[in-house]
Amino acid sequence: MNIIIPDYVLAVLEQLEQHGHEAYIVGGCIRDTLLEKEVHDWDVTTSARPDQVQNVFKNEVTIETGIQHGTVTVIKEGHSVEITTYRIDGTYFDGRRPEHVTFTSSLTEDLARRDFTINAMAYHPLKGVIDPFKGKHDLEQKIIRCVGNAHSRFAEDALRILRALRFAATLNFHMNAETANALLEEKEKLRNIAAERVREELLRLLCGENCAEVLRIYYTVLAVRIPELLPMVGFQQHTPYHAYDVWEHTVRTIEAIKPEPVLRLTMLLHDIGKPNTFTQDDQGIGHFYGHGSVSTEIAKQILERLKFDCSTKETIITLVKYHDIRCELSPIWIKKQLRKFGTDLFLQLLEIHKADIAGQNPNLLYRLENITKCEAMTKEILSEKPCFSLKNLAVNGSDLISLGFPQGKIIGTILQFLLDAVIEETCKNEKNELLEYLQQNKHLINKS
Ligand code: ATP
Ligand code: MG
Repeated sequence: MNIIIPDYVLAVLEQLEQHGHEAYIVGGCIRDTLLEKEVHDWDVTTSARPDQVQNVFKNEVTIETGIQHGTVTVIKEGHSVEITTYRIDGTYFDGRRPEHVTFTSSLTEDLARRDFTINAMAYHPLKGVIDPFKGKHDLEQKIIRCVGNAHSRFAEDALRILRALRFAATLNFHMNAETANALLEEKEKLRNIAAERVREELLRLLCGENCAEVLRIYYTVLAVRIPELLPMVGFQQHTPYHAYDVWEHTVRTIEAIKPEPVLRLTMLLHDIGKPNTFTQDDQGIGHFYGHGSVSTEIAKQILERLKFDCSTKETIITLVKYHDIRCELSPIWIKKQLRKFGTDLFLQLLEIHKADIAGQNPNLLYRLENITKCEAMTKEILSEKPCFSLKNLAVNGSDLISLGFPQGKIIGTILQFLLDAVIEETCKNEKNELLEYLQQNKHLINKS
């Protein structure tokens, strides 16, 4: 089998060999090439020690990416290539990272320290694939399997537990039985992993095409860092609107929405407050009054725990809070929403609403029609470039001041009053008409 390696990577391999060192491409790039997926980075593994790598590339820019772990990045023809010395990982501290690493001259030893068989293959243009752990077989069988003893591999580095779930979700692979048992048994060690790393793996997992199956089987693993998920599992809703318990509904909504991190995470969290708000009426019908705001509160804590940046956190919180928006097929209502949320957030809310219905009751999918119509109407309205924010109002603060209105809070109040009139279609967004409208209606302005 021939792997087509970009010229700048071949040049790196050749340069290392010319200095008497072994060099192979390794890991994800081989896995992805064999799966006919796009390769995003070409990693090189070599017998050369980091100082020797720096010497080989002394005429190029090199970066000491992780020199104590043996990684040097070389900038070759404008591309960065990570070159890592063959190494054996020493004992692990806290299930997080090796206390020290030992460089070795054996490629097989280097492949043995890698996490999964599908990530433990090396390739050389003349020597072919080096595959001591049968990674190619597992790729063909679509299996995630640890290299070596699964228990000790997960105990050494618990991040691998999440990587296993992420690869199963993104590649649409199954877990080998021993690997699955071990990751479930070692899952508590995930407490030692930095929040940022958990967050990144979680987002990649959620965007995987097989994420629904992974979430159904391995929710207890995620619950180590997000215990708020657990009450949703098996929580019956007792309402004709829902055919599934809260967790199954959640999983289906995740599957139903585009694989974008913000949208997928919103679906994971949108109903997380439901178990806390459940009531049943005289007929035994279940209700979850106010679950949007309870979900918002819980979501806030989770997003903070996972160290999301402020803007992503705010977006997800707003989307969770308003996920239950009731669409009205009226241009005025739509423009009010555009004013309140802005275009992007409102369109996202419609996506979320569609996914929510898709995960409720398969017999009630006709309810999607209303949202689809609302979406079409919104797009039509947007194409007319309507005014729904002060930015596009035909009158601004200076216009009012030059008419003699005093500077201060009142200017903002008047502009909002005029924007209301434009959105409610009682006045055109045209300067003279707005000023005329203002003259006639200024007694209506709430000055408080
Ligand atoms: P992707 O880049 O798509 O996340 P990848 O397999 O390239 O996938 P990287 O994190 O870039 O993943 O790591 C490169 C290689 O290093 C992996 O293919 C694997 O061989 C090894 N590796 C990465 N993380 C670990 C880990 N936690 N434990 C053991 N080996 C690892
Ligand atoms: Mg990679």
